[in-house]
Amino acid sequence: MREQSDVVVVGAGIVGIAVAYHLSVRFGVSDVCLVDPRPPLTLTSDKSTECYRNWWPNRPMVALMNRSIDLMEEMAVESGDAFALSRRGYLYVTADPDRLSVLHRSAERTTGFGAGELRIHRAGSDRYVPASGSGWADAPDGADLFVGGDVLRRHFPFVSGDAVGGLHVRRAGWLDAQQFGMWMLDRGRDAGVRLVRDRVVGFEVAGGWIRGVRLEGGTLVACRAAVVACGPLLGDVAAKAGVHLPVLCELHLKTAFRDRLGVVPRDAPMMIWADPQRLPWSDEERRMLVAEGRSDLVGVMPPACHGRPEGGADSPWVVALWEFRREVRDPTFPVPVDPLYGEVVLRGMATMIPGLFRYLEHLPTPVVDGGYYTKTPENRPLAGPAGPDGLYVAGAVSGFGIMAAAGLGELVASEVVGGEPPPYGDAFAATRYEDPRYRPDVDDTGQL
Ligand SMILES: Cc1cc2nc3c(=O)[nH]c(=O)nc-3n(C[C@H](O)[C@H](O)[C@H](O)COP(=O)(O)OP(=O)(O)OC[C@H]3O[C@@H](n4cnc5c(N)ncnc54)[C@H](O)[C@@H]3O)c2cc1C
Repeated sequence: MREQSDVVVVGAGIVGIAVAYHLSVRFGVSDVCLVDPRPPLTLTSDKSTECYRNWWPNRPMVALMNRSIDLMEEMAVESGDAFALSRRGYLYVTADPDRLSVLHRSAERTTGFGAGELRIHRAGSDRYVPASGSGWADAPDGADLFVGGDVLRRHFPFVSGDAVGGLHVRRAGWLDAQQFGMWMLDRGRDAGVRLVRDRVVGFEVAGGWIRGVRLEGGTLVACRAAVVACGPLLGDVAAKAGVHLPVLCELHLKTAFRDRLGVVPRDAPMMIWADPQRLPWSDEERRMLVAEGRSDLVGVMPPACHGRPEGGADSPWVVALWEFRREVRDPTFPVPVDPLYGEVVLRGMATMIPGLFRYLEHLPTPVVDGGYYTKTPENRPLAGPAGPDGLYVAGAVSGFGIMAAAGLGELVASEVVGGEPPPYGDAFAATRYEDPRYRPDVDDTGQL
């Protein structure tokens, strides 16, 4: 069978949906076909922590995220708050004076990239403006640095007495990512996007141009342009068009537990323990873990155990993450789950929020899921033309695909329609590795 479409977008995760939305709704391309064998958003995009921030340690990422958040805020207004965009910020907490200095220096650099001003609060000179539990419109941007545990705990009394300060990043928060994706998809469908349930198995290329996309069901969809937005399968699918992308997949899990004792305030921001830590196992637990081959859990573990309240004021849920071992693997589904993950993350969170130690006697049953961070060597996304004329890629969005989707969708859609890409477009071009002067080994994206 043969069909015709102007543009085919391959993959209905948050990125593919954002590209289809921009093409159809904002750039007026009426004939967009979005192909996926799975229901929309169900491979990786519904497994995330649903958080966003404009706080990145390099200029192009700050610019992309600022634009993406501008777009999310526009859509939040237009949709009547359909996806509950909030802005409580990310709070990085440390018990190490040296790390506080590092946070301070990196914050000064980040504000220089356009992420907003840095305000410093010490005991006696504290003009901190707290975040509101919901909404985003009145929240400050930039960041607040707390120098001293007392000034930090005046505003966040549930934080460990060991803390010596923290950095509260303000243009940051979370949203309902599923609702956000479905809102963009619905607007796209209203503007003519056709959703086709099938798998792309190949591309027709002639004379150096993309001519069509072959589906597993036997259909050939002839097209002028195709956008590959296949999440963890980005590399495999692009390879079918002869494009070899430098991407790998890292397994990332997430746990949710019922905070039945109400330890984590329902209006807390995203809480991040910025220090490495050693978990306080008993001697017997330590011996058992080593005997079971889990010595990775008894030594010094990496920084960035983090979590936040999930749901409204009446919800007991807390979600939390900690990548205490880096596992690069070929993606398989469902993802393999570490049976100790929920307990280990709860223990790690208790270092920052000691009230959580009360759960160690009777651990709440954790719900664990996860997916893959699809990453380039320098952990920046891939967006734009690649390989034959008319082929584009949109992905490698690692642990930032929800927050980047709107901005990246706009960037790729503008390239497809021949528009002027934004100034940060070059930094994410899929062709950047062809430039011998390009240094992908400079990893400075500050991924959680
Ligand atoms: C534990 C965890 C926490 C995270 N937390 C955050 C967070 O707080 N904030 C944030 O911004 N990001 C976060 N992320 C990252 C974010 O979830 C991803 O970057 C994002 O969902 C990737 O979206 P995608 O559209 O690229 O991929 P996906 O959602 O995986 O979508 C890709 C789609 O392509 C389809 N596809 C694949 N092959 C084919 C084919 N041959 N033909 C047709 N279709 C195909 C798949 O079926 C799938 O639907 C997190 C991720 C994880 C795993």
